[in-house]
This record gives sequence, structure tokens and C-alpha cells, in this order.
Amino acid sequence: MMRNRVQCIVPPHVLEAIEANGTPEQRAWAAATLSVDATVRADRAEAPTAPPHPAADLTAHRRVYDAGNTTSLPGTLVRGEGDPASADVSVNEVYDGFSTTLDLYNQVYSRNSIDDAGLDLIGTVHYSTDFNNAMWDGGQAIFGDGDGDIFNRFTIAVDVIGHELTHGVTQYTAALAYRNQSGALNESMSDVFGSLVKQYHAFPRQTAEQADWLIGAGLWAPRIRGAALRSMKAPGTAYEDPLVGKDPQPATMDGYVTTRQDNGGVHINSGIPNHAFYLAALNFGGYAWEKAGRVWYSALTDRSLSSNAGFLDFARLTVQKAEALFGSGGRQRIHDAWARVGIST
Ligand SMILES: [Zn+2]
Repeated sequence: MMRNRVQCIVPPHVLEAIEANGTPEQRAWAAATLSVDATVRADRAEAPTAPPHPAADLTAHRRVYDAGNTTSLPGTLVRGEGDPASADVSVNEVYDGFSTTLDLYNQVYSRNSIDDAGLDLIGTVHYSTDFNNAMWDGGQAIFGDGDGDIFNRFTIAVDVIGHELTHGVTQYTAALAYRNQSGALNESMSDVFGSLVKQYHAFPRQTAEQADWLIGAGLWAPRIRGAALRSMKAPGTAYEDPLVGKDPQPATMDGYVTTRQDNGGVHINSGIPNHAFYLAALNFGGYAWEKAGRVWYSALTDRSLSSNAGFLDFARLTVQKAEALFGSGGRQRIHDAWARVGIST
């Protein structure tokens, strides 16, 4: 099943650029990273397609494991729920990022963990060696250390942790198929709620106007010319560097990329719904999770949203939700946001 495919934060086009432009050593690890992704995907091919039975208690517990720079999952348990802080910064970043993500979903959307039934959250740090990615594999989040030359550790950005767990939320709700437009919507949901986790977690909390709308700020090592992996405010501008290439994301349908790479451009065309969400949040003003976020969450969790939904299907559903939640003014704000990315609802 598509939903059990591994879903990575760093898209293959970045790894392929490094494979083409890097030193022999960099080329070797880029190839290795691409092939490890494929290995994890293969390992999970036989995973059960039905969600696990919900936990009996309704409080999600966090469990952080250490893979010890191997690829065996989940690894050794190093911090369970309620355990004191670790001496390992990555362990604590995952433990804290899990609770920040649980808080947003619970306090704002009344959702009880990613399955809405208190599912425990499992994360593994120090996966593989110098591993340049973070992933959701259908059952847990996985974080590489980065090689320190191109990427820093992947636990450094709380929006990346929120991004990976939101793949779980999508898996348990609309189960958007991870290819073409439904796949780009799946990626976009993770960026939208990952960014909301970051804005909600900031002290003080950030309004739509104050937020940077970057995904993965701090992930690039200093030598790379880039602010982040993606920008929801200005898709296509997050990085430009001789080694890793240029951010290929379009902001509007005029730039829609038709490709067989990256499952049909799921990390590329996600720029379009990402930018629509940014514009919707700005149209409402204030905290993005309160209005635009509520509209998006209502649409994502509506049973009428098909796993094969395209951009227009999702856009129309958000317009309906906006009207139901916030009246004709809300409807107009959402309609306008989609129109500005080239989608007429
Ligand atoms: Zn993703």
C-alpha cells in the first residue's frame, strides 16, 4: 500500500543533485542515502495496511530509541514517557517535539494523538551513519544525524518533527495516496501542520504575519547557501547552491511540474497548496492555527476527502469548511487564497 511507503523530508532531487555535483565521498553517501530509503521502503512493503488497534488508555506515551548508527529499527529504548532528560540532545529534541506536536493537535483540534485514539509515539534517533534525512515509515519517525557538512542533525527543527508525525495523521484520516497531486497534498499537510507546530511552540507564539513560514530552517550546514528546505511564503526561494541545486518548488499552477521523479513531484508541487495555505492564513490574520488551520484540519479529517483527491477537490472542500466555520467572509478568504495560486473554486 502506498501509505506504507517511507516518506522523507529531504526530496530525492536534492540527493540526486549532490550525487551529480559532489566530491567522490559526497557522491557515495548521496547514493547510499537514496538506496537506504529504498531498503526501508522494501522492509515496510509487507507492513499491515489496517491501522493498529487503538491503545486502551487515551494518553499517548512517547518512546525515543537510539539506533546506534545502525539501520535496525526501532533500536534501544533511551527515553520513555516521564523519564528524565537525556544527555543526548537529539533524544530530548524528539521527546519535546513529540509533545509540542501532541499539544497542537490536542489543544487546538481536540485530536488525541495521531490516530485520535491515544496512539503512542515512537521515534528513532542516530539512524544509520551520517544519514541525511528524516522519515515517517508508517509506524514511527526516524531521524538521521546529517553528515555535518551539508546537513545538521534532523532533530534540530521542530517543524520537521511535526511534519513527520503529520504523515501519521494523514495516514489515519484521508490516507492521501503518495503520488501526483494527492501525494503533493499529503506532503503539504505535513508542511502546513509542521509549520503550525513551530508557530504554536514559539515563545511568544507567532501570528501569520510574524512567522517565517520556512520548513526545516537550521537543517542546512553553514556552507550551504539556503535558509531552509522549503518556503511556504515564497516557494522556490528556500535554497540555491552549487552543490544541492536550487529549490524547484512552484507557488502557483503556472509552474506545476509534471514529472515521474519524486512520486510525481510530491515534494515539488506541494509548493502550490503550501502557498495557498500561507495566503489563507494572511487573509485571516492572527494565529494561523485558529482559522486557516482549522479549515484545513476540518477538510483533512472529513470522510468525504478521497485518498486520490487532487488540488481542486481539496480546495473546494476547504471553501465549504470555511463557510461552515466562519461564514461568507471566511469562504471568500479561502476562495481568494486558492485563486491566487491558480485554482478556481
Ligand atoms: Zn514528508
